[in-house]
Amino acid sequence: MKSIPMRSCIGCGEKKEKKQLIRVIRTPEGEVRVDANGRGNGRGAYICPDPACLEKAFKRKALTRALSCEIPGELYEALAASVAACSERGEPQA
Ligand SMILES: [Zn+2]
Repeated sequence: MKSIPMRSCIGCGEKKEKKQLIRVIRTPEGEVRVDANGRGNGRGAYICPDPACLEKAFKRKALTRALSCEIPGELYEALAASVAACSERGEPQA
């Protein structure tokens, strides 16, 4: 039996399938970026493609904690763009 990889969203804390979440990584070089294809090396954090989760994560500095480093403002911008792109083609927002 194949197990589905589950990850917790850093915003709402819900466990979801890895492929349903957006991955952010800190690379071994210390660069923090959105990992669009999920194959980048490094320490990862996951978030739902939901602006509410992004806002929660931002307010709680959840990304800073998850990745143990300072998160540049550009990363939040890139993440917001990914969230927007996902919610456009994804599920309806509550
Ligand atoms: Zn979430």
